[in-house]
Amino acid sequence: MKRAVFLDRDGVLNVYLPGDYAKTPDELVLLPGVGVSVQKLRDAGFLTVLISNQQGVAKGLMTPSDLDAVTAKLRAEVALDAVYYCPHLKSEDCTCRKPKPGMLLQAAQEHGIDLTQSVFIGDTPTDAQAALAAGVAFVLVLSGQSKTAEGFLPAPTVAVENLDAAVEWVLS
Ligand SMILES: [Mg+2]
Ligand SMILES: [Zn+2]
Repeated sequence: MKRAVFLDRDGVLNVYLPGDYAKTPDELVLLPGVGVSVQKLRDAGFLTVLISNQQGVAKGLMTPSDLDAVTAKLRAEVALDAVYYCPHLKSEDCTCRKPKPGMLLQAAQEHGIDLTQSVFIGDTPTDAQAALAAGVAFVLVLSGQSKTAEGFLPAPTVAVENLDAAVEWVLS
């Protein structure tokens, strides 16, 4: 069984665009130092797994190949072992869209991950709910949608400034 760090995308790895989607590679702006931070996790033996809701495809705002192009840019800069997207609309009520734990459970099954020894790093209550439902510790980063840990529910295991601080917490 392997340990994994699950990573939300928008607000954790790249700049969160309020009410918008990174529809092209140019619109995906990485936060400073994220490539180095993720590499530290891999060097320590963690699998690095992206877990992201991207309903912009189902909304018709981008095509699947647009999302592929965005992902190619991301993976060129950030060492991700696996990438899971939920492309469905919220209204479709699928089993993968966060706050449901479907993508985490699928990744655990496909990669032999011990969820009890793993961590989710995210920026929203939706991420925290998915982590809680999967039995994974949750590190809240304040580099995205949430600007404070005050009143954040469900309560995170810990709240830190950004991804690099989250990685330091995981490795300590
Ligand atoms: Mg996010
Ligand atoms: Zn889905």
